[in-house]
Amino acid sequence: MHGLHDLVTVEFPVPPQDGERFAWSMAYALLGGFQVAFSAEESELGAHVFDVPADGSRKRILLYETDEGGTGLLRNLWERDGWRRTARRALELLHVDPDTGKQRDDACETACYDCLLSYFNQQHHDLLDRRLVIDVLRQMLTVELEPGEGGRGLDWDTVKSAAVGAELEVIEELERRGFPRPIGQHAVIRDAKGAPVTEADLVYPNKIVVWVHGQPHHREHVRRRDAELERRLRSLGYRVVTVWPERLEEGLGELAERLQRPELLPRRPLLRIVPREKAEAYVRHLPLYTLEAAAGAFSEGQIPQEAGWVEVEGCNLREGMFVARVVGESMNRRIPNGAYCIFRRPVEGSRNGRVLLVQHRDFTDPETGGHYTVKVYQSEKEAAEEGEWRHTVIRLIPDSTDPAFQPMELRQASEEDFRVVAEFLTVLRR
Ligand SMILES: [Zn+2]
Repeated sequence: MHGLHDLVTVEFPVPPQDGERFAWSMAYALLGGFQVAFSAEESELGAHVFDVPADGSRKRILLYETDEGGTGLLRNLWERDGWRRTARRALELLHVDPDTGKQRDDACETACYDCLLSYFNQQHHDLLDRRLVIDVLRQMLTVELEPGEGGRGLDWDTVKSAAVGAELEVIEELERRGFPRPIGQHAVIRDAKGAPVTEADLVYPNKIVVWVHGQPHHREHVRRRDAELERRLRSLGYRVVTVWPERLEEGLGELAERLQRPELLPRRPLLRIVPREKAEAYVRHLPLYTLEAAAGAFSEGQIPQEAGWVEVEGCNLREGMFVARVVGESMNRRIPNGAYCIFRRPVEGSRNGRVLLVQHRDFTDPETGGHYTVKVYQSEKEAAEEGEWRHTVIRLIPDSTDPAFQPMELRQASEEDFRVVAEFLTVLRR
Protein backbone atom coordinates (compact mmCIF):
# COMPACT_ATOMS: atom_id res chain seq x y z
CA MET A 1 0.00 0.00 0.00
CA HIS A 2 1.42 3.31 -1.02
CA GLY A 3 0.01 6.80 -0.98
CA LEU A 4 0.43 10.52 -1.44
CA HIS A 5 -2.29 12.98 -0.51
CA ASP A 6 -4.21 12.73 -3.69
CA LEU A 7 -3.60 9.20 -4.86
CA VAL A 8 -3.31 5.78 -3.30
CA THR A 9 -2.23 2.50 -4.82
CA VAL A 10 -3.19 -0.83 -3.32
CA GLU A 11 -1.86 -4.15 -4.51
CA PHE A 12 -3.98 -7.29 -4.31
CA PRO A 13 -3.29 -10.93 -5.07
CA VAL A 14 -5.89 -11.83 -7.68
CA PRO A 15 -7.52 -15.10 -8.74
CA PRO A 16 -5.65 -16.41 -11.79
CA GLN A 17 -8.60 -16.54 -14.20
CA ASP A 18 -10.39 -13.46 -12.96
CA GLY A 19 -7.66 -10.92 -12.31
CA GLU A 20 -9.16 -8.13 -14.36
CA ARG A 21 -12.68 -8.74 -13.11
CA PHE A 22 -11.53 -8.97 -9.50
CA ALA A 23 -9.48 -5.79 -9.71
CA TRP A 24 -12.16 -3.60 -11.29
CA SER A 25 -14.81 -4.97 -8.95
CA MET A 26 -12.56 -4.24 -6.00
CA ALA A 27 -11.75 -0.78 -7.31
CA TYR A 28 -15.42 0.23 -7.54
CA ALA A 29 -16.25 -1.47 -4.25
CA LEU A 30 -13.54 0.55 -2.50
CA LEU A 31 -14.65 3.76 -4.17
CA GLY A 32 -18.25 3.13 -3.18
CA GLY A 33 -17.32 2.18 0.37
CA PHE A 34 -15.11 5.21 0.73
CA GLN A 35 -17.76 7.57 -0.54
CA VAL A 36 -20.20 6.35 2.06
CA ALA A 37 -17.68 6.19 4.89
CA PHE A 38 -16.34 9.70 4.30
CA SER A 39 -19.22 11.44 2.55
CA ALA A 40 -17.36 11.98 -0.66
CA GLU A 41 -19.03 12.78 -3.95
CA GLU A 42 -18.86 10.24 -6.69
CA SER A 43 -17.23 12.83 -8.96
CA GLU A 44 -14.45 13.53 -6.47
CA LEU A 45 -12.71 10.17 -6.79
CA GLY A 46 -11.66 7.86 -9.56
CA ALA A 47 -10.02 4.48 -9.85
CA HIS A 48 -7.85 2.65 -12.29
CA VAL A 49 -6.40 -0.85 -12.50
CA PHE A 50 -2.83 -1.67 -13.48
CA ASP A 51 -0.85 -4.83 -14.03
CA VAL A 52 2.03 -5.47 -11.67
CA PRO A 53 5.14 -5.76 -13.83
CA ALA A 54 6.31 -9.36 -14.17
CA ASP A 55 3.72 -10.63 -11.71
CA GLY A 56 0.48 -11.94 -13.19
CA SER A 57 -0.74 -13.02 -9.77
CA ARG A 58 -1.28 -9.47 -8.54
CA LYS A 59 -3.00 -6.29 -9.69
CA ARG A 60 -2.54 -2.74 -8.58
CA ILE A 61 -5.52 -0.50 -7.93
CA LEU A 62 -5.05 3.25 -8.06
CA LEU A 63 -7.52 5.47 -6.26
CA TYR A 64 -7.15 9.17 -7.00
CA GLU A 65 -8.78 12.49 -6.29
CA THR A 66 -10.13 14.07 -9.42
CA ASP A 67 -9.61 17.62 -8.19
CA GLU A 68 -6.39 19.03 -9.44
CA GLY A 69 -4.00 19.22 -6.51
CA GLY A 70 -6.33 17.14 -4.39
CA THR A 71 -8.10 18.04 -1.20
CA GLY A 72 -6.52 15.40 0.99
CA LEU A 73 -9.67 13.33 1.00
CA LEU A 74 -7.84 10.04 0.62
CA ARG A 75 -5.76 10.74 3.68
CA ASN A 76 -8.78 9.49 5.63
CA LEU A 77 -7.77 5.99 4.64
CA TRP A 78 -4.94 6.10 7.13
CA GLU A 79 -5.93 8.69 9.62
CA ARG A 80 -9.31 7.51 10.76
CA ASP A 81 -9.17 3.73 10.60
CA GLY A 82 -10.23 4.38 7.06
CA TRP A 83 -9.45 1.04 5.46
CA ARG A 84 -11.66 -0.85 7.81
CA ARG A 85 -14.46 1.70 7.61
CA THR A 86 -14.21 1.63 3.84
CA ALA A 87 -14.30 -2.16 3.72
CA ARG A 88 -17.33 -2.28 6.03
CA ARG A 89 -19.24 0.21 3.93
CA ALA A 90 -18.22 -1.56 0.75
CA LEU A 91 -19.59 -4.84 2.06
CA GLU A 92 -22.86 -3.19 2.99
CA LEU A 93 -23.09 -1.79 -0.52
CA LEU A 94 -22.44 -5.25 -1.90
CA HIS A 95 -25.50 -6.55 -0.04
CA VAL A 96 -23.42 -8.32 2.62
CA ASP A 97 -23.64 -7.98 6.39
CA PRO A 98 -20.06 -7.10 7.36
CA ASP A 99 -20.35 -8.84 10.72
CA THR A 100 -21.74 -12.18 9.68
CA GLY A 101 -20.66 -12.28 6.04
CA LYS A 102 -24.19 -13.29 5.08
CA GLN A 103 -25.70 -11.70 2.05
CA ARG A 104 -29.10 -10.10 2.19
CA ASP A 105 -32.05 -11.92 0.71
CA ASP A 106 -32.62 -9.24 -1.91
CA ALA A 107 -29.02 -9.30 -3.12
CA CYS A 108 -28.38 -9.13 -6.83
CA GLU A 109 -26.53 -11.88 -8.66
CA THR A 110 -23.35 -10.12 -9.81
CA ALA A 111 -23.80 -6.36 -9.85
CA CYS A 112 -26.60 -3.80 -9.89
CA TYR A 113 -27.03 -0.05 -9.64
CA ASP A 114 -27.32 -0.37 -5.86
CA CYS A 115 -23.87 -1.87 -5.58
CA LEU A 116 -21.14 -1.74 -8.21
CA LEU A 117 -22.76 -0.25 -11.26
CA SER A 118 -23.03 3.46 -11.95
CA TYR A 119 -23.45 5.65 -14.99
CA PHE A 120 -19.81 6.64 -14.65
CA ASN A 121 -18.43 3.14 -15.01
CA GLN A 122 -20.43 1.76 -17.91
CA GLN A 123 -17.27 0.82 -19.79
CA HIS A 124 -16.61 -1.76 -17.06
CA HIS A 125 -20.07 -3.13 -16.40
CA ASP A 126 -19.24 -6.42 -18.09
CA LEU A 127 -16.37 -6.99 -15.70
CA LEU A 128 -18.06 -6.26 -12.42
CA ASP A 129 -18.97 -9.10 -10.07
CA ARG A 130 -19.41 -8.39 -6.40
CA ARG A 131 -18.96 -12.07 -5.47
CA LEU A 132 -15.28 -11.95 -6.37
CA VAL A 133 -14.32 -9.41 -3.74
CA ILE A 134 -16.46 -10.18 -0.71
CA ASP A 135 -13.99 -12.50 0.98
CA VAL A 136 -11.11 -10.11 0.56
CA LEU A 137 -13.12 -7.18 1.87
CA ARG A 138 -14.06 -9.27 4.86
CA GLN A 139 -10.40 -10.05 5.47
CA MET A 140 -9.81 -6.33 5.73
CA LEU A 141 -12.03 -6.40 8.81
CA THR A 142 -11.18 -9.74 10.28
CA VAL A 143 -8.40 -8.83 12.56
CA GLU A 144 -10.35 -8.56 15.73
CA LEU A 145 -13.02 -11.09 14.89
CA GLU A 146 -13.87 -13.43 17.68
CA PRO A 147 -15.70 -16.72 17.37
CA GLY A 148 -19.39 -16.28 16.92
CA GLU A 149 -18.88 -12.99 15.15
CA GLY A 150 -19.32 -14.58 11.80
CA GLY A 151 -16.03 -16.40 12.16
CA ARG A 152 -17.04 -19.28 9.96
CA GLY A 153 -13.77 -19.04 8.17
CA LEU A 154 -12.70 -18.22 4.67
CA ASP A 155 -13.13 -20.53 1.77
CA TRP A 156 -10.05 -22.76 1.28
CA ASP A 157 -9.93 -21.98 -2.43
CA THR A 158 -9.88 -18.27 -1.70
CA VAL A 159 -7.13 -18.76 0.85
CA LYS A 160 -5.07 -20.84 -1.56
CA SER A 161 -5.48 -18.43 -4.44
CA ALA A 162 -4.22 -15.59 -2.26
CA ALA A 163 -1.25 -17.55 -0.94
CA VAL A 164 2.19 -16.17 -1.66
CA GLY A 165 5.57 -17.88 -1.52
CA ALA A 166 5.85 -20.66 0.98
CA GLU A 167 2.27 -20.27 2.18
CA LEU A 168 0.59 -22.46 -0.41
CA GLU A 169 2.26 -25.67 0.71
CA VAL A 170 1.31 -24.98 4.32
CA ILE A 171 -2.26 -24.02 3.49
CA GLU A 172 -2.76 -27.14 1.38
CA GLU A 173 -1.58 -29.22 4.29
CA LEU A 174 -3.96 -27.45 6.69
CA GLU A 175 -6.85 -28.21 4.38
CA ARG A 176 -5.77 -31.82 3.83
CA ARG A 177 -5.58 -32.52 7.54
CA GLY A 178 -8.94 -30.99 8.32
CA PHE A 179 -7.79 -27.88 10.15
CA PRO A 180 -10.45 -25.22 10.66
CA ARG A 181 -10.47 -22.49 8.04
CA PRO A 182 -8.78 -19.23 9.03
CA ILE A 183 -10.96 -16.18 9.48
CA GLY A 184 -8.37 -13.82 8.05
CA GLN A 185 -5.51 -13.82 5.60
CA HIS A 186 -2.80 -11.22 5.04
CA ALA A 187 -4.60 -9.22 7.66
CA VAL A 188 -3.11 -6.10 9.15
CA ILE A 189 -2.90 -6.29 12.92
CA ARG A 190 -3.36 -2.99 14.70
CA ASP A 191 -2.56 -1.77 18.15
CA ALA A 192 -5.17 -0.25 20.44
CA LYS A 193 -4.81 3.13 18.73
CA GLY A 194 -5.40 1.63 15.33
CA ALA A 195 -1.80 1.92 14.16
CA PRO A 196 -0.65 -1.04 12.06
CA VAL A 197 1.79 -3.36 13.81
CA THR A 198 2.35 -6.11 11.30
CA GLU A 199 0.60 -8.42 8.90
CA ALA A 200 -0.62 -11.89 9.79
CA ASP A 201 -0.43 -14.56 7.10
CA LEU A 202 -3.44 -16.30 8.61
CA VAL A 203 -5.70 -15.36 11.48
CA TYR A 204 -7.73 -17.70 13.65
CA PRO A 205 -10.28 -16.82 16.31
CA ASN A 206 -9.07 -15.98 19.81
CA LYS A 207 -6.27 -13.84 18.42
CA ILE A 208 -4.22 -16.65 17.02
CA VAL A 209 -1.89 -15.43 14.33
CA VAL A 210 -0.01 -17.73 11.95
CA TRP A 211 3.18 -16.71 10.23
CA VAL A 212 4.54 -18.86 7.44
CA HIS A 213 8.22 -18.13 7.25
CA GLY A 214 10.25 -18.94 4.18
CA GLN A 215 14.00 -18.85 3.79
CA PRO A 216 14.52 -15.06 4.14
CA HIS A 217 13.31 -15.29 7.73
CA HIS A 218 16.41 -17.27 8.64
CA ARG A 219 18.53 -14.16 8.10
CA GLU A 220 19.76 -12.65 11.28
CA HIS A 221 18.26 -9.17 10.89
CA VAL A 222 14.91 -10.57 9.74
CA ARG A 223 14.83 -12.87 12.74
CA ARG A 224 15.47 -10.02 15.10
CA ARG A 225 12.67 -8.05 13.48
CA ASP A 226 10.33 -11.07 13.67
CA ALA A 227 11.11 -11.55 17.33
CA GLU A 228 10.37 -7.91 18.05
CA LEU A 229 7.07 -8.08 16.15
CA GLU A 230 6.11 -11.23 17.97
CA ARG A 231 6.79 -9.58 21.30
CA ARG A 232 4.53 -6.68 20.32
CA LEU A 233 1.80 -9.02 19.17
CA ARG A 234 1.94 -10.90 22.43
CA SER A 235 1.67 -7.67 24.36
CA LEU A 236 -1.55 -7.03 22.39
CA GLY A 237 -2.89 -10.41 23.45
CA TYR A 238 -2.12 -12.30 20.25
CA ARG A 239 -0.59 -15.74 20.17
CA VAL A 240 1.79 -16.34 17.32
CA VAL A 241 2.38 -19.69 15.68
CA THR A 242 5.31 -19.65 13.28
CA VAL A 243 5.29 -22.35 10.64
CA TRP A 244 8.57 -23.07 8.87
CA PRO A 245 7.80 -25.20 5.80
CA GLU A 246 10.89 -27.31 6.41
CA ARG A 247 9.58 -28.13 9.88
CA LEU A 248 5.93 -28.48 9.02
CA GLU A 249 5.05 -31.11 11.64
CA GLU A 250 6.26 -28.92 14.44
CA GLY A 251 4.38 -25.86 13.24
CA LEU A 252 1.13 -27.66 12.56
CA GLY A 253 1.41 -29.43 15.89
CA GLU A 254 1.72 -26.11 17.66
CA LEU A 255 -1.24 -24.72 15.76
CA ALA A 256 -3.35 -27.75 16.69
CA GLU A 257 -2.46 -27.16 20.32
CA ARG A 258 -3.30 -23.46 20.13
CA LEU A 259 -6.63 -24.24 18.50
CA GLN A 260 -7.26 -26.84 21.20
CA ARG A 261 -7.79 -29.50 18.58
CA PRO A 262 -5.60 -32.35 19.85
CA GLU A 263 -7.05 -34.75 17.29
CA LEU A 264 -5.15 -32.74 14.65
CA LEU A 265 -1.80 -33.25 16.31
CA PRO A 266 0.57 -35.23 14.15
CA ARG A 267 0.57 -38.77 15.36
CA ARG A 268 3.81 -39.62 17.06
CA PRO A 269 4.51 -43.07 18.35
CA LEU A 270 5.34 -43.08 22.00
CA LEU A 271 8.95 -43.43 22.91
CA ARG A 272 9.73 -47.15 22.87
CA ILE A 273 12.00 -47.89 25.78
CA VAL A 274 13.51 -51.28 26.55
CA PRO A 275 15.77 -52.48 29.36
CA ARG A 276 19.48 -52.89 28.73
CA GLU A 277 19.31 -56.65 28.24
CA LYS A 278 16.82 -56.28 25.41
CA ALA A 279 18.59 -53.38 23.73
CA GLU A 280 20.63 -53.66 20.58
CA ALA A 281 22.98 -51.01 21.88
CA TYR A 282 23.99 -48.42 19.26
CA VAL A 283 22.44 -50.52 16.50
CA ARG A 284 18.76 -49.96 17.15
CA HIS A 285 18.81 -48.40 20.59
CA LEU A 286 20.42 -45.47 22.32
CA PRO A 287 20.72 -44.89 26.05
CA LEU A 288 18.28 -42.41 27.56
CA TYR A 289 19.72 -40.07 30.16
CA THR A 290 18.44 -37.06 31.96
CA LEU A 291 20.26 -34.03 30.63
CA GLU A 292 21.51 -33.32 34.12
CA ALA A 293 22.97 -36.79 34.53
CA ALA A 294 24.60 -36.63 31.11
CA ALA A 295 26.12 -33.21 31.72
CA GLY A 296 27.37 -34.08 35.17
CA ALA A 297 28.79 -37.53 34.57
CA PHE A 298 30.35 -36.98 31.16
CA SER A 299 32.11 -33.83 32.20
CA GLU A 300 33.65 -35.80 35.07
CA GLY A 301 34.71 -38.49 32.63
CA GLN A 302 32.13 -40.97 33.92
CA ILE A 303 29.27 -42.82 32.30
CA PRO A 304 25.88 -41.72 33.61
CA GLN A 305 23.22 -44.18 34.69
CA GLU A 306 20.75 -44.61 31.84
CA ALA A 307 16.99 -44.59 32.35
CA GLY A 308 16.52 -47.18 29.60
CA TRP A 309 17.28 -47.71 25.94
CA VAL A 310 15.26 -45.94 23.28
CA GLU A 311 14.52 -47.40 19.91
CA VAL A 312 15.64 -45.01 17.18
CA GLU A 313 14.76 -45.39 13.55
CA GLY A 314 16.04 -43.69 10.46
CA CYS A 315 19.35 -42.66 11.92
CA ASN A 316 22.80 -44.24 11.71
CA LEU A 317 23.65 -44.93 15.29
CA ARG A 318 27.09 -45.10 16.76
CA GLU A 319 28.68 -45.22 20.14
CA GLY A 320 28.69 -41.89 21.95
CA MET A 321 25.14 -41.05 20.92
CA PHE A 322 22.44 -40.76 23.53
CA VAL A 323 18.90 -39.47 23.96
CA ALA A 324 17.93 -36.78 26.44
CA ARG A 325 14.95 -34.54 26.90
CA VAL A 326 15.42 -30.79 26.57
CA VAL A 327 13.09 -28.62 28.59
CA GLY A 328 12.52 -24.90 28.13
CA GLU A 329 11.81 -22.33 25.46
CA SER A 330 15.27 -20.84 24.98
CA MET A 331 16.00 -22.99 21.92
CA ASN A 332 12.45 -23.40 20.69
CA ARG A 333 13.23 -22.50 17.10
CA ARG A 334 15.19 -25.72 16.87
CA ILE A 335 14.15 -27.74 19.90
CA PRO A 336 10.53 -27.64 21.03
CA ASN A 337 10.05 -27.49 24.76
CA GLY A 338 10.07 -31.02 26.11
CA ALA A 339 11.51 -32.66 23.01
CA TYR A 340 13.55 -35.83 23.19
CA CYS A 341 16.76 -35.20 21.30
CA ILE A 342 19.70 -37.18 20.04
CA PHE A 343 23.09 -35.97 21.21
CA ARG A 344 26.55 -37.16 20.29
CA ARG A 345 29.81 -37.04 22.13
CA PRO A 346 32.63 -36.21 22.05
CA VAL A 347 32.40 -33.01 20.07
CA GLU A 348 34.99 -33.00 17.34
CA GLY A 349 36.14 -30.19 15.08
CA SER A 350 35.14 -26.57 15.29
CA ARG A 351 32.48 -25.85 17.85
CA ASN A 352 31.39 -22.53 16.46
CA GLY A 353 27.78 -22.30 15.44
CA ARG A 354 26.92 -25.76 16.69
CA VAL A 355 24.28 -26.52 19.29
CA LEU A 356 26.08 -27.93 22.29
CA LEU A 357 25.34 -29.28 25.71
CA VAL A 358 27.76 -27.52 28.02
CA GLN A 359 28.50 -27.73 31.71
CA HIS A 360 29.73 -24.77 33.71
CA ARG A 361 30.56 -24.52 37.37
CA ASP A 362 29.63 -20.87 37.73
CA PHE A 363 26.28 -20.49 36.13
CA THR A 364 22.85 -21.89 36.73
CA ASP A 365 20.54 -22.20 33.78
CA PRO A 366 17.28 -20.55 34.85
CA GLU A 367 15.29 -23.02 32.76
CA THR A 368 16.74 -26.19 34.20
CA GLY A 369 18.08 -25.03 37.53
CA GLY A 370 21.28 -26.93 36.79
CA HIS A 371 24.87 -26.09 35.90
CA TYR A 372 24.34 -27.10 32.31
CA THR A 373 22.60 -25.75 29.26
CA VAL A 374 21.98 -26.42 25.56
CA LYS A 375 22.79 -23.42 23.39
CA VAL A 376 24.42 -22.31 20.16
CA TYR A 377 28.13 -22.08 20.84
CA GLN A 378 30.26 -19.23 19.67
CA SER A 379 33.76 -18.34 20.71
CA GLU A 380 36.18 -15.61 19.79
CA LYS A 381 39.83 -16.32 20.04
CA GLU A 382 42.45 -13.77 20.74
CA ALA A 383 46.16 -13.93 20.09
CA ALA A 384 48.19 -14.45 23.20
CA GLU A 385 52.01 -14.46 23.30
CA GLU A 386 54.01 -16.08 20.55
CA GLY A 387 51.17 -17.02 18.31
CA GLU A 388 49.38 -19.12 20.86
CA TRP A 389 45.61 -18.93 20.67
CA ARG A 390 43.27 -19.14 23.54
CA HIS A 391 39.59 -18.65 24.16
CA THR A 392 38.68 -15.29 25.47
CA VAL A 393 34.95 -14.95 25.04
CA ILE A 394 32.48 -17.79 24.79
CA ARG A 395 28.92 -16.97 23.99
CA LEU A 396 26.08 -19.39 24.56
CA ILE A 397 23.33 -18.12 22.33
CA PRO A 398 19.65 -19.00 22.61
CA ASP A 399 17.59 -19.56 19.46
CA SER A 400 14.13 -18.69 20.61
CA THR A 401 11.01 -16.95 19.44
CA ASP A 402 11.11 -15.25 22.82
CA PRO A 403 13.58 -12.35 22.70
CA ALA A 404 13.77 -12.33 26.49
CA PHE A 405 16.40 -15.07 26.24
CA GLN A 406 19.75 -13.39 25.97
CA PRO A 407 23.15 -14.85 25.15
CA MET A 408 25.29 -15.90 28.11
CA GLU A 409 28.80 -14.66 27.91
CA LEU A 410 31.69 -16.41 29.61
CA ARG A 411 35.06 -14.71 29.76
CA GLN A 412 38.38 -16.45 30.04
CA ALA A 413 36.73 -19.75 30.73
CA SER A 414 39.23 -22.32 31.82
CA GLU A 415 38.92 -25.97 30.96
CA GLU A 416 38.12 -26.84 34.58
CA ASP A 417 35.02 -24.75 35.05
CA PHE A 418 33.66 -25.06 31.53
CA ARG A 419 33.16 -28.25 29.58
CA VAL A 420 31.56 -29.03 26.27
CA VAL A 421 29.75 -32.31 26.83
CA ALA A 422 27.96 -33.23 23.63
CA GLU A 423 26.50 -31.96 20.42
CA PHE A 424 22.78 -31.78 19.70
CA LEU A 425 22.03 -33.68 16.49
CA THR A 426 18.29 -33.79 15.99
CA VAL A 427 14.92 -33.84 17.66
CA LEU A 428 13.67 -37.38 18.13
CA ARG A 429 10.16 -36.46 19.15
CA ARG A 430 8.19 -34.57 21.69
ZN1 LIG B 1 -26.13 -5.37 -6.39
